[in-house]
Amino acid sequence: MTAVADRQPETTGVAARNDHRTEVVERGSFCFAQCDCGWFAPGRRSRDKARRDAAAHRADPDPGD
Ligand SMILES: [Zn+2]
Repeated sequence: MTAVADRQPETTGVAARNDHRTEVVERGSFCFAQCDCGWFAPGRRSRDKARRDAAAHRADPDPGD
């Protein structure tokens, strides 16, 4: 769970405008959403929740700002 902490998007500040292409990835019994911009959501047991994570990210990619 800590191995991804250093990961950074390769295209910082470039793809972070409207080009958020998300997909839901399955790993074992978990699903998580990830995006072209480098963002990804925590693992979910439900594919539907992962899809909601993706939708929320596209709607508001940078909620802290
Ligand atoms: Zn994104």
